[in-house]
Amino acid sequence: MKALFAALQHWLYPQSCLSCQKVLDDNHLLCQGCLSSLQLLSPYGRCALCFFPLSRHRFVCDSCHKYPIRSMQLAAVFEWEKVPFMLSLRYRQTHNQRLLFAMAACTVMQLIRLNWPWPSVVVSPRKEALFAKTVAKIMQIPFTLSCARLIKGRCALAVVVNVSSLVALETFGMAIKSYQPKSLFGLSFMDSRHG
Ligand SMILES: [Zn+2]
Ligand SMILES: [Zn+2]
Repeated sequence: MKALFAALQHWLYPQSCLSCQKVLDDNHLLCQGCLSSLQLLSPYGRCALCFFPLSRHRFVCDSCHKYPIRSMQLAAVFEWEKVPFMLSLRYRQTHNQRLLFAMAACTVMQLIRLNWPWPSVVVSPRKEALFAKTVAKIMQIPFTLSCARLIKGRCALAVVVNVSSLVALETFGMAIKSYQPKSLFGLSFMDSRHG
């Protein structure tokens, strides 16, 4: 009965790509074209501290050279481009769990690709808690907003959906630093600083 209903629903409301609206034959979130445009950002040619693209062969960007972010090493999964933006927009509109899981899974894949130390705990600002909790669930490590016992002496990973400026993230990072983690890394699903 459930399968019949799903088939009927699919016929009445065909699945379409979440980014470009192209009608899909199957139950995927994105069409093949949009899926293949999703490429994890490479750390090469980016600032080692804040992940900003570097114009020449250097280690850190001008801004980090003058005012380094002190709380964490930061990286992003995707640039602020159409497909990742549409994924996060659709998630905010629909709260679709598959979408949340897909975004979180991409974030974990980028963590593996960056070869960062595997964290013991995931932290996030309150408004990003659901996303960060899903990342923690995939990694099978705890999530906390501010439990000092879980953070102290441990490698913590801060997770956000988008970083539009470093100022707010730095304020959050300094608050987490006050719980004395062993180290703090930050990973954002998108980076709209230069979008
Ligand atoms: Zn598409
Ligand atoms: Zn930088």
